[in-house]
Amino acid sequence: MSYYLPLAAIDTAVFPGSYATARKRWLTQINKLSCHAKYLPYPCDGIGPEGEQLITDTVWIGPEDASRVLVLLGGTHGIEGFAGSAVQIDRLALIAEGLVVIPADTAVLMIHALTPWGYAWQRRCDADGVDLNRNSVDFSKPLPENKDYELLYNLIKGPIYLADTAQRKIALAGFEQQHGRVALEKAISAGQYSDPSGPFYGGKAPAHGRLVCEGVIREYALQQRDLAVIDLHTGLGSYGYGEIICDHQPDSAGTRAAQNWYGDSVALPLLGTSSSVPKTGLLDYAWHAIMNERSCYVTLEFGTFSTDQLFEILLRDHQLWAQSGNGQARLDHSKIMRRHFCPTDQAWQEMVLFRARQVIAQGLSGVSS
Ligand SMILES: [Zn+2]
Repeated sequence: MSYYLPLAAIDTAVFPGSYATARKRWLTQINKLSCHAKYLPYPCDGIGPEGEQLITDTVWIGPEDASRVLVLLGGTHGIEGFAGSAVQIDRLALIAEGLVVIPADTAVLMIHALTPWGYAWQRRCDADGVDLNRNSVDFSKPLPENKDYELLYNLIKGPIYLADTAQRKIALAGFEQQHGRVALEKAISAGQYSDPSGPFYGGKAPAHGRLVCEGVIREYALQQRDLAVIDLHTGLGSYGYGEIICDHQPDSAGTRAAQNWYGDSVALPLLGTSSSVPKTGLLDYAWHAIMNERSCYVTLEFGTFSTDQLFEILLRDHQLWAQSGNGQARLDHSKIMRRHFCPTDQAWQEMVLFRARQVIAQGLSGVSS
């Protein structure tokens, strides 16, 4: 499938310094659009560290009756919003300057900062410790169990995030030796619904970002349109590479659409071809449920540092937030979080912008063909 890649110069100045700055710049770009655009904000409870309001902003660009829509999600995991904002601001500028053309009968829907609290406070989760990307489960039914998360708890005789680094390393290495690498990654990160202070906690009710998605789906009757959803993430996989992760079932219309549009770089956790292991409660599933056979949802995941480093940094973050009186330590650690999820390296940021342009162009071309 051919697609048009915008060749305008890449400017890493689109990477924001904070959630508040990102929001301001994003809104400024919206105001520069000359085509039809409909803006809708979704306020979130709480405030940011500088007293700023927390809002998920959305904009629909193009004809309101378009039968095809490219949906760009950012900040599903709060702190990963730095790259998400950069990609969205870059795309808005390209549209405003006429450097890209949205195909006929097609609209672009951007959802900015799905987890604004985590973005503002430089955490992955929301104010209740909930990982939005483990939250799409049916809360009226028994919640998924993660027996290996419990096994780790028993092995360490307490939560893994409360152990000290040396004790944790020994326990995790022992677990990996006995059960294998994939089992270890699933134990920690596949999702758990038993420990609100722990990592990858799916919550006990629909979180803000899920309600925003459901609201947007209703507002624009998205179940009646063909959708190319791209959810922007960072922190897993090879440094600077944007992996296209498809969590549709391997033999499904969604996977076939992803492979037709994005080619051989599509990776499937269910087939073990992705840097991501299979997970429960992914935001994907809320969208899969309303998608027709000409649609697909992919995660565009930009790698940074090793998965072991990701786990150690995240577990330390949960340790600091599980205990009170850690104000300064949390602040210091937020800088380490920031470096893991959005390296300041200009080359990394250029790779993110280039690859995002490429994948967005493929998605637009795919959904509109
Ligand atoms: Zn993520």
